[in-house]
Amino acid sequence: MRLDVVTIFPEYLDPLNVSLVGKARARGQLGVHVHDLRAWTYDRHNTVDDTPYGGGPGMVMKTDPWGDALDTVLAEGYETGAHGPALIVPTPSGRPFTQELAVELSERPWLIFTPARYEGIDRRVVDEYATRMPVYEVSIGDYVLAGGEAAVLVVTEAVARLLPGVLGNAESYRDDSFAPGAMANLLEGPVYTKPPAWRGRGIPDVLLSGHHGKIARWRRDEALRRTTANRPDLIERCDPKAFDKKDREM
Ligand code: SAM
Repeated sequence: MRLDVVTIFPEYLDPLNVSLVGKARARGQLGVHVHDLRAWTYDRHNTVDDTPYGGGPGMVMKTDPWGDALDTVLAEGYETGAHGPALIVPTPSGRPFTQELAVELSERPWLIFTPARYEGIDRRVVDEYATRMPVYEVSIGDYVLAGGEAAVLVVTEAVARLLPGVLGNAESYRDDSFAPGAMANLLEGPVYTKPPAWRGRGIPDVLLSGHHGKIARWRRDEALRRTTANRPDLIERCDPKAFDKKDREM
């Protein structure tokens, strides 16, 4: 997969060199290209913003730097054989970023991110590139950040761990919260590791029983308990057929 990020703060993306994403890059599973938007400004002050039409507070990012940057990024990518670009526009007014969307994006070969600052990017930029490729306007939550770079880090990490071969154990994301399958829409329950006793606290006996069926049932019960407590909205979205009599008694 190829990722391009155009930003006025390239150093904000430095964490893409560490941990899981950094290793995926080092192994060649992910190509990450970070570009400084100001490289496509032509005035003394490297201006990327201007006052909003219609008035109001704040500044709006200008069309020209973004258009020139995206044209160059696209041309460079195509030259290296990349194909199937999609534009990922972080914005609090986008569709919520979910695990389902992470899965969808992980199946695309090339993602181009446009993290903005100020009041966002002149709308014509999104409208222009929407005629050439799929555009995903994505919000990472119901709050307003100062810029989209943190959202790029969030989306990249969620997507990268789904790429084949990136996680050491592919099973580990199948049991995650929000994973599809038997536990769909349930949050993952508590987890434990050695030692078996710590500060007078033990671990649930069932986890030492070696009985796979009982352990699976316990995990499901705990997932259901945690989801009911923390995210009742998710329970409402579950297929009622996924619950049995024991669930309803909890
Ligand atoms: N005026 C915009 C609004 O109310 O929708 C907020 C602009 S915000 C200060 C600047 C930039 O931060 C946005 O254009 C976007 O790139 C990014 N951003 C802020 N909150 C975000 C969120 N919840 N999800 C994704 N990106 C966000």
